[in-house]
Amino acid sequence: MITAYCGMKVIPGDGGEPVDDAVVLVDDDLIREVGKAGGVNIPPEANRVDLSGKVMIPGMIDAHVHCLMDASADPMGELQRRTQTMTVLQAAKHLEATARAGVTWVRDLGGYGYLEMSLQEAVECGMISGSRMLVAGKVITMTGGHGHPMGREADGEAEVRKAAREQLKAGAQVVKVMATGGVLTPGVEPGAAQLTEKEMSAAVQEAHKAGRRVATHAQGTEGIKNALRAGVDSVEHGLFLDEEAVAMMRDKGVWLVPTLTATRRIVEAQTDAGIPAFAVRKAEDALQGHLQSFRMALDAGVRVAMGTDAGTPFNSHGDNLQELQLMVQEGMSPSDAIFAASGGAAELLGIADRAGALKAGRLADMVVLREDPLQDIESIRRPERVYMGGRRLL
Ligand SMILES: [Zn+2]
Repeated sequence: MITAYCGMKVIPGDGGEPVDDAVVLVDDDLIREVGKAGGVNIPPEANRVDLSGKVMIPGMIDAHVHCLMDASADPMGELQRRTQTMTVLQAAKHLEATARAGVTWVRDLGGYGYLEMSLQEAVECGMISGSRMLVAGKVITMTGGHGHPMGREADGEAEVRKAAREQLKAGAQVVKVMATGGVLTPGVEPGAAQLTEKEMSAAVQEAHKAGRRVATHAQGTEGIKNALRAGVDSVEHGLFLDEEAVAMMRDKGVWLVPTLTATRRIVEAQTDAGIPAFAVRKAEDALQGHLQSFRMALDAGVRVAMGTDAGTPFNSHGDNLQELQLMVQEGMSPSDAIFAASGGAAELLGIADRAGALKAGRLADMVVLREDPLQDIESIRRPERVYMGGRRLL
C-alpha cells in the first residue's frame, strides 16, 4: 500500500534543509521518496493524507535508556525487589509510552538478567507495540563498581574480555563499560575512576572485532580519559570534562551522550520524593559541572547524540524529548538538537541506513507536530501523530 503525506514542512533529520509544502511517499513500511509538492510523482492509487500546516520529523532516537528501570525514586532497588515478570510487563509499557512520544528507537545501555533482550524480540516480532531497540545486555563493571547490582562484575583484562564476549554471545549490539562511579550506586563516587584503561581496551577490542560499538559510563575526568585512550565510541554523561578531554573526543570523533535530564530530575525531586540521600547529594555536586561540560563540548565541536538515561529517578519513559529542551537551553540550536536525536544518533548507533532521516529507503518512522520545533523546541514534546514503519501508533 502506498500513502502520500502532503502539504507539511519536512525537517529531514539528516542535517539537510527543511522542505516546505513537501510530499513523503511511503510504500508499506519504507519511505519511497521525499520532495517538494509537484516534484514527487504520486501514483493514482496512493492514499493521500493532508498534513497542511503541520511539521514532520523523523522518529526520534534516544541513545541511552534503561527500559527495565521504572523512573521511581530508587529504580535499581526496585529492579532487585520486584519479580522479573512484573519488571517485563512494566518495561513493555515503558517502550509503548516511549514510542507514542515519538521516540521510535532506543538504545538500552544496561539491562537486568537479559530480560531486555526478550523485550527487543517482542517488539521485533510485533508482539508488543513499542520503540525498536538496540541492547547492551549487562553493564561491565569492576567488583563493587557502578551498577554492580544489575551488571557483570569483572576484574583484570582477561575477565573483562570474557565479560564482553558474554554480552556479545547473549546478543548485545553494543557493549557498555563503567569507567567511573556514578550517582545511583551507593558507596561509589561519580568522580572516581573504576575500570582501568587496559581493562576497557580489552572490551573495546572484543566489541570492535565483532563490529559493535562501546559506550562508556564516564563521569569523572580521569575515568573519561582512560576510556578515551581505551578507544570507546561514546562518553555517556561526561559530567566532569576538561579541555583536554573535549579535545580528545573531538579528535577521535567520539560522541558525547549528555543525559542532562538525569541529574536535573534528581536535583529537582530531592529526598522528599524518596530518592536516596546519597544520590541527591552526588547529583547536586555534579549539576553545575555537567552543564559546564556540555557547553565546553559544544564549543569544541564534539559530536553529540541525544540520550536521557530514562528510567533513572523521575526521568520517565515517554518524557524523553525534554532532553532536547535542556540541550537548547544550554546553548545548542534547535536544528542541531533535532539532529542529535535523529541523523546524529542514528550514526552513533550504526543504524543510519534504516533510521534517523526522512529519506528514500529509510523506515517510515515519522512524527507529525502541530508547531515548528525549530521555532519552539518544546513543541516536540507534544506529537500529534506518530508512525512506526508506516503504521500509525498515535
Ligand atoms: Zn544509564
